[in-house]
Amino acid sequence: MQTTEELKKLLYKNETVADTAPDALSAAQEFCEGYKAFLDHGKTEREVTAYSEKLLLNAGYKPFVAGEKLSAGDKVYTINREKCVLAATIGTKSLEEGFHLNIAHIDSPRLDLRPVPVFEKNGLGYLRTHYYGGVRKYQWPTIPLALHGVVFRADGSKVEICIGEKDDDPVFCITDLLPHLGAKQNAKPLSEGISAEDLNVLIASQPIADKDAEQRVKLSVLGMLNEAYGITERDFTRAEIEVVPAHKARDIGLDRAMIGAYGHDDRVDAYPALMAEIGVQNPAYTTVCVLTDKEETGSDGVTGLQSMYTFHFLQQLCAAQGADYIKACKAGKCLSADVTAAFDPTFADAFEPDNGTYAGCGVAIYKYTGARGKSGTSDASAEMVSYLTNLMDKNQVVWQIGEMGKLDLGGGGTVAKFVANQDIDTIDIGVPVLSMHSPFEVVSKADVYMAYLTFKAFCEDAE
Ligand code: MN
Ligand code: MN
Repeated sequence: MQTTEELKKLLYKNETVADTAPDALSAAQEFCEGYKAFLDHGKTEREVTAYSEKLLLNAGYKPFVAGEKLSAGDKVYTINREKCVLAATIGTKSLEEGFHLNIAHIDSPRLDLRPVPVFEKNGLGYLRTHYYGGVRKYQWPTIPLALHGVVFRADGSKVEICIGEKDDDPVFCITDLLPHLGAKQNAKPLSEGISAEDLNVLIASQPIADKDAEQRVKLSVLGMLNEAYGITERDFTRAEIEVVPAHKARDIGLDRAMIGAYGHDDRVDAYPALMAEIGVQNPAYTTVCVLTDKEETGSDGVTGLQSMYTFHFLQQLCAAQGADYIKACKAGKCLSADVTAAFDPTFADAFEPDNGTYAGCGVAIYKYTGARGKSGTSDASAEMVSYLTNLMDKNQVVWQIGEMGKLDLGGGGTVAKFVANQDIDTIDIGVPVLSMHSPFEVVSKADVYMAYLTFKAFCEDAE
């Protein structure tokens, strides 16, 4: 007869990092200082790319030159159109024996300026926006906002704009109705309380002096922008300006065990993946880290994972050592990182507790994502789950496994399928997030660190 104690050992149970790996907590605190700096320096995919490039150059990475011979231990990187990072460390094994690929995305939900954004109404100046990614629109009014981006002038010169980050910078905002007059708005469904056309950013309120002129506030706005940046209204047509929350990453809680910030999705996986890539020395398998763009809108376009840019890079790495690309893909493995929903007790209704993933219980594994009967997922094989969980156990990584929430409530996809479609074994992992896609998302530092340990173990795996 088995005792109850023996039987209990048969259970699968989520356990906190605090209970199972208490020694990792101080390391997690330290690791997350670097992560918070990464967040504060990168609120757009372009900024994250520029900051990552600096980290790579500081670590001795050399710009990748197609056709140039590479030797084991070499570290190279390349940038795709200022919005994606590709970094690799050449392994001692031939690429035909496979590569270890870590992918995360660095675009985040936000509001983009429209091609003709500036307008004036009843004496107030605004910028019109078009939301990017899955945004709950009611979350964006009445918070301080910053403008980040690039504009090309008529002569082709580029100007970078960043307003709202320095302590003495002005910030911007979207207004909302006062409760005293809110009866009609309150009666609407939550999804309609603030519409896409309501997401107008307040940018100025003082007219130019000429009382006879029309659109005096708009003229004032264009005048100030012209003075500061040498741009005209026409130049907004060739701009990419993103409206993002102006706040910095902050510790959450008396215990400082969590981080609240804009853009955890998916910089919270991008930073650990990049740090693991930077840290690996002389790996057995060639390691490749890709920080990609456009995940939030379906991965289309030249900087999305549905484009060939990542696979072209892999082809070029193969060519550099005369390795067969098809063999390399077949033997290759990929951790497709993206955030997952953390179980939220306030909204427990949305989750199935046994298959939920919890903040503070380690990095989450998702065998599959998708919606409506696993549509749109690559569904990693049991063999791949077995490989990864064994690797994590060997390396004392605290992990949990689950699904996004209750079935048929919604769902979501990741880039995993675009990699798997190239004949590369791929599995989803990621850090659980509270308030995902909101202007202030929350993660557990312990989980961020466990994500790092996962990427590190995968980079260093020699078997
Ligand atoms: Mn994501
Ligand atoms: Mn997302």
